Amino acid sequence: MKTYKDLAPSPRTIMTPGPVEVDPRVLRAMSYPILGQFDPEFTALMNETMGMLRLLFKTENEWAFPVDGTSRSGIEAVLVGLIEPGDKVLVPIYGRFGHLLTEIAKRCGAVVVTLEKEWGSVFSAEEIVSAIREHQPKLVALVHGETSTGRMQPLEGIGQACREADALFVVDAVATIGGIEVATDRLLIDAIIGGTQKCLSVPAGMAPITYNKRAEAKLQSRKRIERGLLLADGEDDPLLRPIQSNYLDLSQLQDYWSPARLNHHTEATSMLYALREGLRLVLEEGLETRFARHREHEGALIAGLEAMGLQLYGDPSCKMTVVTCIVIPAGVDGETVRSMLLDHYGIEIASSFGPLKGKIWRIGTMGYSCSKRNVLLTLGALEAVLLRHGHKLEAGKGLQAAMDFYGM
Ligand SMILES: *Cc1c(COP(=O)(O)O)cnc(C)c1O
Repeated sequence: MKTYKDLAPSPRTIMTPGPVEVDPRVLRAMSYPILGQFDPEFTALMNETMGMLRLLFKTENEWAFPVDGTSRSGIEAVLVGLIEPGDKVLVPIYGRFGHLLTEIAKRCGAVVVTLEKEWGSVFSAEEIVSAIREHQPKLVALVHGETSTGRMQPLEGIGQACREADALFVVDAVATIGGIEVATDRLLIDAIIGGTQKCLSVPAGMAPITYNKRAEAKLQSRKRIERGLLLADGEDDPLLRPIQSNYLDLSQLQDYWSPARLNHHTEATSMLYALREGLRLVLEEGLETRFARHREHEGALIAGLEAMGLQLYGDPSCKMTVVTCIVIPAGVDGETVRSMLLDHYGIEIASSFGPLKGKIWRIGTMGYSCSKRNVLLTLGALEAVLLRHGHKLEAGKGLQAAMDFYGM
C-alpha cells in the first residue's frame, strides 16, 4: 500500500500580494474544538465577528458577515444578488480584477459597459462620474486596490454620482481591507467585499462583505419565498426574478446571520475562529496604527529597491501601499530569480498576469508579512540573487538605504 509522508510544509517568508503569512495566534485559533452551528457559544462568536467587521469596514450597516469561500465568492454573491438579467452595469477596468468583475457581471446576465485604462494607471474620479452620467447604469462595480498592477483607485465622489443616477455602488476591497483605509459609509459604498488572505493575514476561505439598506432592498425584492410575495395558491410570483445562486444567495445568508438563524449551509467553524482572531488582532493593533505600519514598510522597501537601481512599475501617484511592482531588468529571467529566492531563501515574491506576465515582479507587504525583518531579508536576498544572474548593481546599497529609512 502506498504510504504518504507526514504533512510538513516548509517555513516561508511570503512577500506576495496574497496569500500571506498567518499570525500564529490565528493558526492556533483554527485548532480549537468545533462548536455546533446553533450552539449559543458559537452564534455569539458569529455576532462578535459581525461587530468587528463593521469596525473594519467603517460602517454602521446592519449586514456585515463573511461569505464562505474565497474572496471571489463574496464578489459573486454581491453581484449575483444585485444584478438582474438585462441590467446595465458599468465596470471601469484598470487591471485583472476589473476583468473579473466584468466576467462575473456578464454571467449574471448584465449588459456590461466597460471603461478601460492602460495598466499601471487609474481613472480620475471625473472620468468615472461622467461615464455614470452618460450610461445611467443600474450598478457600478469597481476595484479599490488592483493587486495585478499595484495601483489604487481613488473612490471619492463616485458614490455620490451613483446615488444621483440611482445606481448601486459595489467595490472590491479584497486587497486593501486591513492594510489601507476603506471608509464604506463615508464613500457611500452600497456593497463591498474584503479578503482574508491579504492584509487581514487569515488563510483564504472566507470573504467578509457588508452592504447597506439600498442593497438589501434589492436583495429582498428578489427573495424567492417571502411571505406576502407568494400568490394565493402558493406559487412563486411569476414576476419575481430570483437570485440565480442558492449557495451565494445573500437574502438567505443574511437570515442565517440574523437572530432568526434560518439554516442555510453549515458555517465554516474553524474559518470563523480564524477570522474572528484575525479581526481581533487587527483591532488590537488599531486600524490607523496598522495602516501606518503598512506605509512604513512600503517606504523602506521602496528606498531599498531604488538604491539597488531597480525601476518601479506604474504611475507613482496611485501606487498601492501594500503592493510594490518592479520592472524586471533587461536580460534577467524573472522566473529563475523567483525560483532561486524560493528554493534557497524560502522567500516568495510574485510575478504578474496578462500583459504584465514576465515583465514585472510584485512584492506584497501585507498583514503579518509586513515587517522590518521580512523587508530586510527580501532586499538582501533579491540583491544576492540578481548578482548571481549577472545583473550589475552596487552591492550593499539597497539594504543600507532601507536601514537608513528605518533609522537603524
Ligand atoms: C486576490 C484578489 C481577488 C480574488 O480573491 P480570491 O480570494 O483568490 O478569490 C479579487 N480581487 C482582488 C483585488 C484581489 O487582489
